[in-house]
Amino acid sequence: MIKKILIANRGEIALRIIRACQELDIKTVAVHSTIDENAMHVRLADESVCIGPPLASKSYLNISSILSAAEVSGADAIHPGYGFLSENAKFAEIVNEHGLIFIGPKAQHISEMGDKVSARTAMKKLGIPLVPGSDGAIKNLQELKKIAKEIGFPILIKAASGGGGKGMKVAEKASELEEAWNLARSEAKSGFGDDTVYLERYLANPRHIEFQLFADSFGNVVHFGERDCSLQRRHQKVLEEAPSPALNEEERAKISKVIVKAVKKLGYLGAGTFEMLYENGEFFFIEMNTRIQVEHPITEMITGFDLVKEQINVANGKKLSVKQKDVKIKGHSIECRINSEDPETFIPNAGNIKNYHAPGGFGVRIDSALYSGYKVPPNYDSLIAKLIVYGNNREEAILKLKIALKEYVIDGINTTLSLHEKIISENEFISGNYDIRWLEKFLKNND
Ligand code: ADP
Repeated sequence: MIKKILIANRGEIALRIIRACQELDIKTVAVHSTIDENAMHVRLADESVCIGPPLASKSYLNISSILSAAEVSGADAIHPGYGFLSENAKFAEIVNEHGLIFIGPKAQHISEMGDKVSARTAMKKLGIPLVPGSDGAIKNLQELKKIAKEIGFPILIKAASGGGGKGMKVAEKASELEEAWNLARSEAKSGFGDDTVYLERYLANPRHIEFQLFADSFGNVVHFGERDCSLQRRHQKVLEEAPSPALNEEERAKISKVIVKAVKKLGYLGAGTFEMLYENGEFFFIEMNTRIQVEHPITEMITGFDLVKEQINVANGKKLSVKQKDVKIKGHSIECRINSEDPETFIPNAGNIKNYHAPGGFGVRIDSALYSGYKVPPNYDSLIAKLIVYGNNREEAILKLKIALKEYVIDGINTTLSLHEKIISENEFISGNYDIRWLEKFLKNND
């Protein structure tokens, strides 16, 4: 039985995990870099250990420091959160080799799904529809030209190890292939240390719809419905909602049946997300994330289940607390990612939070590690808060969001709060009629 969890993360997700542990009567160990000495996760955890200097590679990504912290604190499990080491198969393996529980899937699945080329191969075998593309990695420019011609333009060259929307290049026509090939490979090499790329057809107007899956070690697999993450900038999510305004009950039931079957066959464990593109009534797999997602709260709001508690239970060798028939999707939830960025130029900024007031009320949830007087460091991801609302229906959720955004005060640094106010006043958002390209077009028109 897990008695003490070390949280190998920071910010809002560290707080989220601490709260789940407190409910389960599990002690927590926070790890932190020197610059995070006064961070909220350090204050709220039962214990804390400094694991290195501000640079993430020397602290939050430093496997030996984290393992030493687990050893000195007597933790028996590690929760990686999202980002940092959460999708590092080697880390999961080393954690297990040290006799600790890694709260996540088996290393073999992290590794298989972390490489998008092997993920595509695995999904094809499991009968999951893929975006039309190459069968494996592209070996050279000649091969790229040949396959691109077969698939048809526009095409997208993607990094096998890519993430965060990086390492992707579009070629609209054959003459653009060479440049896109060179750019995608060099971006992949410098960003991920791996220049393996593959090819997909570049879909014209899809929505990004992802499914939340959960599996226990007894072979039970449950899906918790979908999230619509089509509001993106530079292929990165900005605002998410659940359920998707584009999907009906019949479509949801049909695709989730296929996915649940595949996850069962895979012998997967824990939380996983199937990211799909949805166009003209068809679904196409793009990737599987083997961790808790930033946007998991909207699923919690519409199903009433605590996904982090579920992760811990499953890692503890327990059965999922929920059966498929108990998962009822009710109401509507929306999440805004509040970043410490200029709302127009998107340039990240750091500094002192002079004044902080979080909105509240029925159906309003804030997942954030901010407080008045906190100094946002320049060293990490710019996500500083998640504003999540829940309403009985979509209109009510939008109304609550509008009020909450107006009430939210984060003074001292630039944030994307005002961008969200603009987005949710637009007709395309209100009608729910938007795709993955809409936000960029909207931003361009408002330049
Ligand atoms: P990452 O791991 O970098 O987030 P994904 O494969 O998940 O990469 O894709 C991120 C986003 O890029 C998707 O949500 C979608 O907006 C866009 N995208 C990815 N593949 C395609 C495609 N084949 N056609 C059109 N858009 C795509």
